[in-house]
Amino acid sequence: VIKEHYRNDYKMFESSISKDFKSILTMETELRKALKEGQFELHYQPQKNIVTGRIVGVEALLRWNHPKEGFISPGTFIPLAEKTGLILEIGDWVMYEACRQNKQWQDEGYDPIIVGVNLSAKQFHQSDLVERVASILNKTGLQPSHLELEITESMAMSNEEDIIQTLEGLRDLGVYVSIDDFGTGYSSLKYLSRFPVNKLKIDKVFIQNRKQNEAIVKSIIHMSHSLDMKVIAEGVETEEQLTFLKNERCDEMQGFFYSKPLPPKHLNEMFQKQTV
Ligand code: C2E
Ligand code: MG
Ligand code: MG
Ligand code: MG
Repeated sequence: VIKEHYRNDYKMFESSISKDFKSILTMETELRKALKEGQFELHYQPQKNIVTGRIVGVEALLRWNHPKEGFISPGTFIPLAEKTGLILEIGDWVMYEACRQNKQWQDEGYDPIIVGVNLSAKQFHQSDLVERVASILNKTGLQPSHLELEITESMAMSNEEDIIQTLEGLRDLGVYVSIDDFGTGYSSLKYLSRFPVNKLKIDKVFIQNRKQNEAIVKSIIHMSHSLDMKVIAEGVETEEQLTFLKNERCDEMQGFFYSKPLPPKHLNEMFQKQTV
């Protein structure tokens, strides 16, 4: 009986490995196909200056429009793309497309805004990242000061010489760098004050559970300003949250209260409204 039991366990183990392996392989093939066949799309979520109420930027958010499954959320496929290394090709596409779209908006006569692009850890750690960014800006004709790269705390908070070099390279190039989901990762204040970072993005968990996290949100806002950084609140869903942020002098907001991420043509309509 014992022997039988173990054998079954082993079989189960083996079949679950091959199943996972197969789905990773399938996923990789599907992701490659998606890239080749243009199944990826960027949606853009507006970011507003809280005082003036004007759109000052948009965050580019990746969407996979799968022919059979419909829209697949980045939370599902980004980790896999990261695991397979395909994130590098996908990330290049995202950055190119976001810069191209932002330049197009400027060419159409809208007030210049900043486009934010999320970087994955693998992308950020490429030794030629700065050259890649420079080349994309060059190809699309977008000015560096109209691009912002979002990294997470864990990518930046390390003493390694090459990370400092990358951040300084990006600063010298003239692009902005922000820290995404700030407050949820592992971070060190020592690095925060030393690194050339322009903006903190307060994670939505602190905004949405505002009452419990009031002191934290206030501290992040005040700390950003002391460090000469801007600060934006993510995941703003209610007027009450916005009023609080306004009173605390948070610079910018992003969230469903104003707008969810939208296809680019919907942004045109929003830009038009504020031009009048
Ligand atoms: P993120 O960079 O923190 O992006 C913000 C996420 O919060 C987006 O989810 C957005 O739709 C959502 N959000 C915005 N406002 C609200 C709100 O008021 N309430 C709530 N509940 N949610 C809100 P999304 O688009 O599903 O993206 C999830 C994550 O996937 C992103 O988090 C980012 O880490 C990653 N991601 C998205 N696009 C890319 C990309 O092009 N490259 C990389 N490397 N990662 C990406
Ligand atoms: Mg982000
Ligand atoms: Mg975030
Ligand atoms: Mg995130």
